[in-house]
Amino acid sequence: MSNHTIFDKILSKEIPAQIVYEDDFVLAFRDIQPQAPVHVLVIPKTKWVGFSALQDAAPLAVGEFFTRIAKVAAQLGLDAKGYRVVLNNGRDGQQTVDYIHAHILGGRGLTWPPG
Ligand code: AMP
Repeated sequence: MSNHTIFDKILSKEIPAQIVYEDDFVLAFRDIQPQAPVHVLVIPKTKWVGFSALQDAAPLAVGEFFTRIAKVAAQLGLDAKGYRVVLNNGRDGQQTVDYIHAHILGGRGLTWPPG
């Protein structure tokens, strides 16, 4: 496992990001290639490589991560109209960064199914 993914570097402030929320548990920042008017990534400060790793994770830590995703979406003003949370996992899931991250996508009507 690399400790130097782009998200490790954003978390350590080695490289800049447009941070929208931070607390003891998570960092949230705008996606550099937004796929919707609002596209924010939420990463936990406890690193898991991907969603699969949550099988062995402490439930309390996973809960902190998930409650923050909902909180960030609310703070972005997305509760009224709704939004999508996406966690791409592994090769077929099109995960490109080996640091778990939740995409919050909103600000327009989203289509289904995803590609
Ligand atoms: P995924 O395909 O689920 O692994 O998503 C990775 C996301 O990270 C993509 O949507 C990228 O646009 C985004 N991304 C990559 N580098 C950066 C960066 N430096 N700052 C913000 N978002 C980034």
